[in-house]
Amino acid sequence: MPTIFTHAFIPIALGKTISTEKRPLRFWLAAVLCSVVADADVITFAFGIEYGDFLGHRGFFHSLCFAFILSMVMALWEFRKLKLFSKPWWKIWFFFFVVTASHGILDTFTNGGLGIALLSPFDTTRYFAPWTPVMVSPIGARSFFTPWGLAALASEFLWIWMPLIIALIITKTYRRIRKQVATK
Ligand SMILES: [Zn+2]
Repeated sequence: MPTIFTHAFIPIALGKTISTEKRPLRFWLAAVLCSVVADADVITFAFGIEYGDFLGHRGFFHSLCFAFILSMVMALWEFRKLKLFSKPWWKIWFFFFVVTASHGILDTFTNGGLGIALLSPFDTTRYFAPWTPVMVSPIGARSFFTPWGLAALASEFLWIWMPLIIALIITKTYRRIRKQVATK
């Protein structure tokens, strides 16, 4: 997995890039939760479930199907004031789907561990992207501040944070220029 910081950065960067709408803190917390929650599946190790099992680490909880279910729950529960299946409702659902799915997809770009069961439960094959530039980060908080943990952070910064930050800067600059042109 990339580290929890990197997964959590996805909804913030994505949300700020695609929309200028002000959202309450609750919204961002829910989005961050969706982007990191898949790795709670490491808890299954404690129950004797193997890494490669259906419910093992990077298994069903990293799949697109799980992302679909969780984003539906989020949209139905968190945004129940919105008219069900209206355009704004679908937009919120889609954002939460992408944010949740980003976790498993991002993990496929890492260079270690088992692949990701993206299509589970329909197909339990563990997938990797054809290109895996992101160094896999250690599991567990203690191994985080080791040379491995730091090297993983550096590789995530280069391959994930930098492109997202650049996209955000370009979008913000573009919006500012457009606003200036419009007020002239
Ligand atoms: Zn993961």
